[in-house]
Amino acid sequence: MAIIGFDTTVFPKLDYKNPRKFWKQIKELERFFSNHKEDLSQVIENVPALRAAFDKLDPLIQSYTAKVCPYCGTVCCANKFGFPEFADVVCFLAMDLDIPRYDLDVDEEAICQFIGEKGCVLPRIQRPYRCTWYFCDPLLVQLEIGPARHYRSFVADLQELSMARGKLLEAFYTIWTKGNNSKQ
Ligand code: SF4
Ligand code: SF4
Repeated sequence: MAIIGFDTTVFPKLDYKNPRKFWKQIKELERFFSNHKEDLSQVIENVPALRAAFDKLDPLIQSYTAKVCPYCGTVCCANKFGFPEFADVVCFLAMDLDIPRYDLDVDEEAICQFIGEKGCVLPRIQRPYRCTWYFCDPLLVQLEIGPARHYRSFVADLQELSMARGKLLEAFYTIWTKGNNSKQ
């Protein structure tokens, strides 16, 4: 499935292996949001569509993961996948979500710190985007063997999510680059 979104590689890397820098970048982003409230209204206006797209997609993904994940021998949720990218933090802040208190002093390959008894304890909107995006082969098989119309509507919902997130990030990028250039 070819799904187009915003190219998040334009943002700096948020490196969980460098805790001091990781938290400093997050603090700077928080400051940027509180210092540019008016300008960021163009970003915030994309939030309802992003929330709605997550809400629409979540039950379907949940229904598939509930079928497949309990029988998985190689659980994909490792700490290194539970840490956010810069773009994830932008979306969290735009949606006025708390930034999860990541414990960076963990084995990155060990099972993710956010796994609870019934799967991930974070609401989907507060997880890194990759956690929604990743479909292992058994999950893809489940999707493909179901009714074709379910698969088509699932792909359409994913497109919607990607577009909503893309629009928000694009709006943020424009304001953020202006803000950073005016400091130079
Ligand atoms: S998404 Fe796939 S790899 Fe990850 S836990 Fe579920 S079945 Fe396992
Ligand atoms: S879905 Fe949750 S538990 Fe799994 S890697 Fe993402 S944050 Fe961690």
